[in-house]
Amino acid sequence: MIAERYGLKHLSTGEILREEIASSTELGKLADSYMSKGELVPDCVVIEMLEELLAKQRDRNGFIFDGFPRTVPQGEALNQLLQRHGKRVNAVVSLEVEDEELIERLLRRGVISGRADDNRQTIESRLKVYYRQTAPLKEFYREQGLLKEIKGVGSIDAIFGSIVKEIDSLSTS
Ligand code: AMP
Repeated sequence: MIAERYGLKHLSTGEILREEIASSTELGKLADSYMSKGELVPDCVVIEMLEELLAKQRDRNGFIFDGFPRTVPQGEALNQLLQRHGKRVNAVVSLEVEDEELIERLLRRGVISGRADDNRQTIESRLKVYYRQTAPLKEFYREQGLLKEIKGVGSIDAIFGSIVKEIDSLSTS
């Protein structure tokens, strides 16, 4: 919905990695060994993958990165990469939802998605990994004045409305 409204290219590192797994590439095999355990794929692998993707998408208006960056080193690498292209991160949206609700949502999604990592054990390790490796990014982006914390509970339309409000205020502030 965000990509469509603002004419951005949606880039989900998780989705790209799942495609690599489905095609049984070397990258896919490596990624699967981490993803199936709920661990993060190593920074150097994800950063290189993203660099290649961005190189192919030069004439784009902008991007919405989904599930990236997941660590502070990835955030630092993204800043450097964008700087080289004369671009920058405009805003970071953190959707805030209680752990219990997240676990329930992922378990429900698992029934439909068939995603190998949407089971209770892997979900629990993904949450631990989030707090240890990804949550520090909030401070990283707060310091840069880019963090937008948005309540991720309620209807999809209401949450989308809150995100749009934040993004629209970027151009006027
Ligand atoms: P997602 O589709 O964003 O929920 O990601 C699913 C899984 O893919 C994660 O649990 C990680 O194992 C891996 N993954 C996706 N994005 C990244 C990233 N930026 N860095 C490292 N691992 C990632």
